[in-house]
Amino acid sequence: MAGFSIRFLGCKVSHTDAHEIREALLADGHVEGGTDVAVVNSCCVTHEAVRKSRQAATRAARTHRTVYVTGCAANLAADAFAGLPQNVTVVARRSEETPAYVAGDVGALGCVQADARLDRVRAFVKIQDGCSFSCNFCVIPLVRGASRSRSAAAVLAEARRRVAQGHREIVLTGINLGCYRDRGAGYKLPRLVREVGAIPDLARLRLSSIEVNHVDAELVEALRETPAVSRHLHVPLQSGDDGVLRDMARRYSVATFLRRLQPLEDFNVTTDAIVGFPTETEAGFERTLAVVDAAGITKVHVFPYSPRPGTVTAQRDAVPPQVKKERSARLRAASDAACRARWQTKVGADDVVLVDRPGRGYGDDYSPWLVDAPVGELVRVRGAAVSEEGILAA
Ligand code: SF4
Repeated sequence: MAGFSIRFLGCKVSHTDAHEIREALLADGHVEGGTDVAVVNSCCVTHEAVRKSRQAATRAARTHRTVYVTGCAANLAADAFAGLPQNVTVVARRSEETPAYVAGDVGALGCVQADARLDRVRAFVKIQDGCSFSCNFCVIPLVRGASRSRSAAAVLAEARRRVAQGHREIVLTGINLGCYRDRGAGYKLPRLVREVGAIPDLARLRLSSIEVNHVDAELVEALRETPAVSRHLHVPLQSGDDGVLRDMARRYSVATFLRRLQPLEDFNVTTDAIVGFPTETEAGFERTLAVVDAAGITKVHVFPYSPRPGTVTAQRDAVPPQVKKERSARLRAASDAACRARWQTKVGADDVVLVDRPGRGYGDDYSPWLVDAPVGELVRVRGAAVSEEGILAA
């Protein structure tokens, strides 16, 4: 039996992958804690993400006997982890194979604990992995491969198991969720949303992220007609400038982005934006600010552009670091102001909050609330005021 710890860097898919490794280790009888094994599920979405992954692996190598580096950065062709101490193993494998590989390497003891519960209110259920789009800046298809989906039966079984374990919220997770297909059983994402959303005792259902091209009438209907679905959608914009979108090979224009989100006007829309793409001018950046405003977007995850190895724009990085920094700060400030403006509309209004950690939770549209109630409870609240951290419940 080994004592292990796991950490992840990056997105919700990385989080889900880390949980799958954790479950594989628990199922083999290993226990959390101790200094035998550390797993670092890495990220390579930016140069900075790789640097932090490497730093996490270096730190873990000082405190643990064996360290496994898994995930996206471990699969980068460029050797991001060269020169690390000998107790670090880089596992350059697909996410589907990694948990069994790590568990096998740590050494299964045959002491099965198949119902290992994740002590969280929210469960991330992976439905799809990989991406067959080829955005010019993106390294993800290179490290995760082409899009493939889990069977609907497997997804539904896992979702039911998570709810039975006590999870109140499920987040359907994938790299490009709209590509979800189980052709044999006749499922696309909208049907899956309806059926997961119908699981008794599930309080909340969300999608981790969805490309705007996939926000069509069928999906909008499924989101609207499934009571468990949270009024929140994360839709990557990346840029509000048509020229930059074209240069990124993003497959939509600003007009399409705005039109597709129109039927979801009451949803809390959050996004990702890349700042300082090689062809982004000051005017182009200002168009991004304008589109964030026009689309009613609140939280923007801002990524200063960094060239990734093996991508179309790998050799291009025309915008100076200082300009990227300054534009990132402006976009984050706009995002903060938009969040606060939305929170302000909740003052005096009622909402239902799912408490996911002591003193905090999220309302129906995934706005953050500060509320004093037991973790895991759904509580009816009224907004009293707004703070830096969210809406204060009366
Ligand atoms: S849609 Fe584009 S940005 Fe998203 S993972 Fe696929 S290639 Fe990368």
